[in-house]
Amino acid sequence: MINIALFGPPGAGKGTQSEALIKAFNLHYISTGDLLRRELSAGSKLGLEAKSIISAGGLVPDEIIVQIIENTITEHPEANGFLFDGFPRTYIQCYILEGLMNKLNTSLSCLISLEVDEEESVARLLKRGITSGRTDDNETVILNRLREYHEKTLPVLQFYKDKGIYRAVNGGNSVEKVCDDVRAAVKDEIHKYPINIVIFGYPGSGRGSQGKALAKHFELEYLATGPMLDAEIARQTPVGKKIQELYESGALVSDEIVVPLIEQKLEQSKDVRGFIFKGFPRTLVQSYILDGLLRKRGTNITRIIDIEVSTLELIKRLDARSKTDTCMPYDSTTAKIVQRLQEHESKTVPVIEKYAQIHGVTKVDGSGTFEEVFARLASILDKTVWIS
Ligand code: AMP
Repeated sequence: MINIALFGPPGAGKGTQSEALIKAFNLHYISTGDLLRRELSAGSKLGLEAKSIISAGGLVPDEIIVQIIENTITEHPEANGFLFDGFPRTYIQCYILEGLMNKLNTSLSCLISLEVDEEESVARLLKRGITSGRTDDNETVILNRLREYHEKTLPVLQFYKDKGIYRAVNGGNSVEKVCDDVRAAVKDEIHKYPINIVIFGYPGSGRGSQGKALAKHFELEYLATGPMLDAEIARQTPVGKKIQELYESGALVSDEIVVPLIEQKLEQSKDVRGFIFKGFPRTLVQSYILDGLLRKRGTNITRIIDIEVSTLELIKRLDARSKTDTCMPYDSTTAKIVQRLQEHESKTVPVIEKYAQIHGVTKVDGSGTFEEVFARLASILDKTVWIS
């Protein structure tokens, strides 16, 4: 889970930035200010207790905040994470948040502090007051809110600085620039958790085109043995010539050829967050090799997907492909197609079965249009990419 607290003085632009963040990262937004205003307009007991404090620009007691925030968190287990706006606002609330996150077996990933000059924030609040209808956006109350901010809220920064998860963003820039900077800070945070996805499926299941599109969508590196081998063929290296012969016979390319190519690619891609592996591992031996290569990078497989398509549909798709320009040398005849399907069944299915026991394998229906299958896969990986 990725949990972020957006911090800053009143008028720093937390609300505006939140809108962009929740869209980009599918986070559940929790604004204690909004929750309190909802209680106020509903005329609830909590709302009545908070009313006069809010109108004076003071901070509502922590007892009230705990009650409104816990319900909201526990009601949204489906979220990729939470974005907190206006919370924690006191040192005590930092501990409250820790406890709540602990209960969900997670923690706050980072606190992003929008740094804005006092004069600028007062000017923004006065301007907002003209249209917001908020009774607390007037000069006297604004000054009180800022005083509360200095006395009670600023210590929150020290709490997170000590934890090493505080990140500052200059909130005085244009909305777009602040938005880019905030997003970059979140991405940095997300990138701390490496992701390795393995996509399986019979030849013709769409694993290649889907894998490539998913890698682009989630900003991962697409690592497919096919294109690497093709590049060797195109360069007509001795290895390339050997690969070509194997392709034409429909057999698998040997590990002595594949493994060094994969290792090279992993080493060249040090700055990426992770990979989508397609076409590797294809055999049990390769699955041990992949485990070793990932362990060397200090990572592991995060998720395994198996795209399922009926045999009849596979044959239809491969046959259609053999008649187009995208025909690969290994799809050119029926005999080769059948051999590839058999190779998958005898060598790769045992790998999927082994992984099913160790990591679990998510089966995804590969029937329908490219877009339909992509949507199914993306919704599964959406969780994996942000939650792991
Ligand atoms: P906001 O919408 O975040 O500017 O909050 C408006 C008002 O709600 C604040 O001035 C406080 O009176 C109250 N409030 C919002 N969040 C908190 C919180 N975490 N702790 C105490 N009071 C809060």
